Amino acid sequence: MKNNKLQALDFVASCFANEEFDLAINKTLKFLRKYFKVDIVSVRTTIGREYCLRFVLESVKSTIPERRINETIVYTKEQWNDVINLYKKGNFLSYDNQNLDVIPGLKSKNLKKAFLQIPMFFRGSFIGTMDFVNVFDEKQWTEQEIYEAEKISNLVCTYYGTSNLYNQNMNDYNIDPMTGLENYESFVKSLEQLISGQPEDKYIAIVYSDIYHFKYINETYGYNVGNNILKLAAKVIKDNSDETLIACRVHSDNFVVSMLIDKSQEKEFAELVKLVSRIFIARLQESYPEIQLKTHSGVYFIKNPNITAEIAVANANLARKILKKNDTSSVKVFEQKMMEDISTQEHLTNELPKAIKNRNLKVYYQPKISCENEEIVGAEALIRWVCDDGTFIYPDQFIPTFEKNGNILDVDYYVYEDVFKYLYERIENGLPCVPISMNVSRVHFSDDKLINYVKFLFDKYPIPSQLIEFELTENIYMANFDNAAKLLEACHSLDILVSMDDFGSGYSSLNMIRELTIDILKIDKIFLKHEVLTKSDKIIIETIIKMAKSLNIKVLCEGVETLDQSNFLREAGCDLMQGYYYSKPLSQEKFDEYMKKHFVK
Ligand code: C2E
Ligand code: MG
Ligand code: MG
Repeated sequence: MKNNKLQALDFVASCFANEEFDLAINKTLKFLRKYFKVDIVSVRTTIGREYCLRFVLESVKSTIPERRINETIVYTKEQWNDVINLYKKGNFLSYDNQNLDVIPGLKSKNLKKAFLQIPMFFRGSFIGTMDFVNVFDEKQWTEQEIYEAEKISNLVCTYYGTSNLYNQNMNDYNIDPMTGLENYESFVKSLEQLISGQPEDKYIAIVYSDIYHFKYINETYGYNVGNNILKLAAKVIKDNSDETLIACRVHSDNFVVSMLIDKSQEKEFAELVKLVSRIFIARLQESYPEIQLKTHSGVYFIKNPNITAEIAVANANLARKILKKNDTSSVKVFEQKMMEDISTQEHLTNELPKAIKNRNLKVYYQPKISCENEEIVGAEALIRWVCDDGTFIYPDQFIPTFEKNGNILDVDYYVYEDVFKYLYERIENGLPCVPISMNVSRVHFSDDKLINYVKFLFDKYPIPSQLIEFELTENIYMANFDNAAKLLEACHSLDILVSMDDFGSGYSSLNMIRELTIDILKIDKIFLKHEVLTKSDKIIIETIIKMAKSLNIKVLCEGVETLDQSNFLREAGCDLMQGYYYSKPLSQEKFDEYMKKHFVK
């Protein structure tokens, strides 16, 4: 017996010593199948993802049709723990079907006679198992045989652990070192598998989430804090899900998870996502009470398996992107209509050059009113797309897309030139003018083109620079403080005033205002959402006004719709107001009339 044992071990050792791994392992498995008189010998391995074992090598008797190479078996958390505890004790041996429930994936209906499974540990970690299966022929494993099989398995494990095959399997299912979640490629593979085996009574829910304004957190609090937040997000995802969950970090702060849900859970699923998001935020507050953030999640349900994993993820992501920064909800479920919206956006993108050429883009002007005497003291230029049939397309419907594809530059330059020309012509005609502010898209930040273009316009339409003002949204400042500061300086060198638009709609930083030399703070209309302001609305607005005043910054409040709001703002020391209570944005002709009626010298 002793001799026999040595012979088998020697044979295997000499295989690996003399042959390439691929050849040696195949030879070895075949040899072991015959040597131990079993029907199947296979190697299953962990794949960098929790609760999974994948068949990577197999030698199967030719009379058995079933092949399981590359099949991955997903365990439940409980099953996995049971199995690992079992393995820690040593091998697992069974002669009947009754005890096999602990080894999921083993198609026990096929197992008639015997099953020996030996765990493989490499550099102290569990990396898989070697299985010896008898389907047809009776086999009673002797102690000596088990001992031998263990020795040989250990040897195989040593060679396998250092082989390219093992590394490749780990890389195939690579994990993100920061969060311990899968990477995107491996997630897609796992999801494809989940889709192909989707049970009829279940949906697969895909959730695509990001942390709103994460870049700002990184820049303000440092990358360490940012990393901790990502790790926490991953932990909360893992802690609050069941074993069907597959989770990955797509990139930076974008996470995508998929899980099986009962069909009846569809309606309440968004609430569940919100709950997990709330748990995340609450956990975050424990460690970083000063950080306020929110998550945006898009949800897509795979209801039938005729969809690829990537399209399913793209649909969930599309739903996420539909969420606007001011949306009170943090979760959006995909609807087919969103696809139609996308094709509308594509249509608008294609139509833009024509619209510019045919002057379908019109600049509207919304008066700015002095709180002191309710006179018009300025206006904001706002773009409208007037279609040939007279219908309007509002900026919210096209600006976000144009910001992404760069077309916003054409739109903005069009608006700027229109405004310069309009002011120039009014001056030429001896008509009074008020300063006009124009919105600046973040896309202008990457180079000096904006300033050069403005200089060009001043040459073409010589008007006093005090008539021109630029509005940069607070998000622009947040996203790129240095470039914002540079642009601000360049504007000031041309005597152009700069305001911070939509203040308070995102992650306003009062500190930042101290550091930037902005001239006007435009408080976002979100603060005036109540027709009659609440006590806390008032306190917030008053505080912002006080703070701005102490820094010698003028304050304008946007979205004034009622007398009550207007009265309050005057009393609170606000300088300027803009809103429907005074006037909606007006076409150039209507604005001319407005000026005629309301402008006081
Ligand atoms: P914004 O710069 O904050 O402009 C103010 C928005 O609030 C305008 O919407 C205006 O019509 C609306 N508004 C004014 N008063 C009231 C009010 O009393 N109540 C309510 N509910 N809304 C009021 P609009 O024109 O749809 O513009 C939306 C946003 O699109 C603007 O927000 C601005 O960020 C952007 N935008 C508009 N025109 C341009 C442009 O030419 N270039 C760029 N880059 N962005 C533009
Ligand atoms: Mg604006
Ligand atoms: Mg605004």
